[in-house]
Amino acid sequence: MKMDYICPACGGHLLINDKLILSAKHEGETGMLILMNPEIGNYQTTHHQSHMIEEGSKFDFFCPICHHKLSSQLNENLVMVHVTDQNDKHFELHFSRIAGQKSTYTIMGKSVETFGIDAPHYLDFINLVDLS
Ligand SMILES: [Zn+2]
Repeated sequence: MKMDYICPACGGHLLINDKLILSAKHEGETGMLILMNPEIGNYQTTHHQSHMIEEGSKFDFFCPICHHKLSSQLNENLVMVHVTDQNDKHFELHFSRIAGQKSTYTIMGKSVETFGIDAPHYLDFINLVDLS
């Protein structure tokens, strides 16, 4: 079983050739494709050299297949996609849509795991959410 990243809206596969592929757009700029390392907690990203990503700038993320806006119900600064791991476990992956902010959360039922040095930034909020 291989890890898979799934669009919560269309069920499309977002992981190709070991890259998570998302479409992203910063306000006032043209959209771009972002290739992300699918390893959770790895913040390495690749994009076309014509785009500049400034630390701290906020992006909207979209499914590159159905163009659904990938937003998290936990916080307006987080993005959510569905993940199936190697053990066929399904969970939600939430990560920050602010460039340079390293906060990632995996949520499976009531269990939350956090990754990245900026994870505490949203933790208070997540603890307040009823995940049942
Ligand atoms: Zn989709």
